[in-house]
Amino acid sequence: MSDGARLKIVQVGEQVLRGRARNLSPEEIRGEPIQQLIAMMRDTMRDAPGVGLAAPQIGLGLRLAVIEDAPEYVSSLPENIRIERERSPVPFHAIANPELSIIGTETADFFEGCLSLSGFVAAVPRARRVNVKCLNESGEEVEIDAQGWYARILQHEIDHLNGYVYIDRMYTRSFMTSEHYSRYWGGMPVKQALLALGGRPD
Ligand code: ZN
Repeated sequence: MSDGARLKIVQVGEQVLRGRARNLSPEEIRGEPIQQLIAMMRDTMRDAPGVGLAAPQIGLGLRLAVIEDAPEYVSSLPENIRIERERSPVPFHAIANPELSIIGTETADFFEGCLSLSGFVAAVPRARRVNVKCLNESGEEVEIDAQGWYARILQHEIDHLNGYVYIDRMYTRSFMTSEHYSRYWGGMPVKQALLALGGRPD
């Protein structure tokens, strides 16, 4: 739990989730308002809880997102799921003005949710490996190579900055409430769930 102020997370239907957000200058990032915003987004993400939060999700059309896959989230998962998802802890960091490149041709199908589509999940195909060039929370140029779940988080958050949400990319027949996911589908391999749902087109 966090001590800081919690921002309101907007739900789908708000225009800001469907627009292209604007870049931030390194000077803006280093300035007090954006530094405060990053801290508030961090606290809001932790409180939700979530592993990523993009500025449009709190109603701001800025190319900024925060990411953290805390060790306690990862260790709470059964080992087979952790391995299947290629999920390992990612320390807190912010990304601004990201440029995403897909590396290789491998994709992975997993269920994911979004704080702006509260109460639902769906299976979404994502690239397994990505490279992201961006500015960090200090306004410095950095390059991130990511694989597995971290690559998925980056793709999900960067989509938000371009006006996309996961329902634009999901296997539509896999869309369901989080409750039903836990009750019926969460315990089985994704391939099996997609087969049973008639989810994967090929
Ligand atoms: Zn989201």
